[in-house]
Amino acid sequence: MTQVLVLVEHDADGLIDSSRRAVTFARGLAVANANSKVAVCVIGEVPTGGAELASAIGRQAAEYGVASLHVVPFTGYAPLAWARALGQLADSLSADAVVAAGTDRGSEVMAHLGAITGEEMVANCFAVSRSGTHEWHLTRQRWGGSLIEEAWLEAGRALLTVATDAIPPASVVEPVAAPLELELEAYEPQLADGDTSVVATESPEQAGGVSLASARVVVSGGRGVGGVEGFSVIEQLAAYFGGAVGVSRAVTSLGWRPHSEQVGQTGTRVTPDLYMACGISGAIQHLAGCQSAKTMIAINTDGDAPIMARADYAVIGDVNEVLPALLEVLRARG
Ligand SMILES: Cc1cc2nc3c(=O)[nH]c(=O)nc-3n(C[C@H](O)[C@H](O)[C@H](O)COP(=O)(O)OP(=O)(O)OC[C@H]3O[C@@H](n4cnc5c(N)ncnc54)[C@H](O)[C@@H]3O)c2cc1C
Repeated sequence: MTQVLVLVEHDADGLIDSSRRAVTFARGLAVANANSKVAVCVIGEVPTGGAELASAIGRQAAEYGVASLHVVPFTGYAPLAWARALGQLADSLSADAVVAAGTDRGSEVMAHLGAITGEEMVANCFAVSRSGTHEWHLTRQRWGGSLIEEAWLEAGRALLTVATDAIPPASVVEPVAAPLELELEAYEPQLADGDTSVVATESPEQAGGVSLASARVVVSGGRGVGGVEGFSVIEQLAAYFGGAVGVSRAVTSLGWRPHSEQVGQTGTRVTPDLYMACGISGAIQHLAGCQSAKTMIAINTDGDAPIMARADYAVIGDVNEVLPALLEVLRARG
């Protein structure tokens, strides 16, 4: 085994939390296979994102034991183009495994890569080992983490996404390379006609917000918030904490907020220090996305709602009264 290639995502401060977890996972695989290295691939506008950002990503990659950093300059998010670029880079590095965090983008790009190459993609892994050249043993989450599956994959190259909440990010004691010595290479893929259909020009975090997947505080609203306007106070609270807004699927289904903010089995898995569930009942599919929060506060008019039993602190009350009062007290404290 020679290389494990990881597709990483970043925000304005550098690598996002779930990408650090994916690199930690990849390093475990490389360490278990002597002489293997971890390479990372950044697709997007790092070169134009400023030298500071590029050097932050380089420094963090080195801290996580990465040996080389490959940048594919590309404007916007085009899943097919990203997948094509990632696959070509993996070929050129003779990578035995291609890994990405199980974020919306990571999952989508890896699924496209599997479709392009005909290789199987295994989602939401948190442990992996390899025996021989074609046998992979994987442990992964199913059904939003409520089931754990042991799986065997026969493949020369494994395409894997990493569960975003299962492995703590761990840097290495001794970086393999000083940040400035980290091999930083621009990679120019050969793209086909039709590949470059851009579906987003930037990620929410690149637009200046905090990434939902890596936010330390998530203030989430559900149907109980009552409508689009009700999210103003949720946004203000999230901004106060320097965190992100999350929502339940009822909210995205009603069209009140975009799917990118959905927390849960079919949304983003969050791992914040504080999760505030406001007017959310606590369906199992929602809890699948927030159960790794260190502390959970629920605000609900129904003291018997399932979320109230799961929360560390439960406030029985109307979000329209509790949240503005809370914001006022917090702001008064400065
Ligand atoms: C395959 C599948 C995948 C799914 N994936 C997801 C997912 O990823 N994420 C997700 O969230 N859901 C998901 N769901 C949907 C999930 O089952 C629930 O339907 C959804 O989470 C409910 O959203 P909610 O809690 O906002 O709404 P509701 O269940 O309607 O709950 C609203 C809550 O607000 C409270 N409330 C009402 N008014 C107020 C008020 N003024 N102040 C305070 N509290 C108030 C009510 O007491 C209630 O507890 C999925 C479902 C399926 C079948």
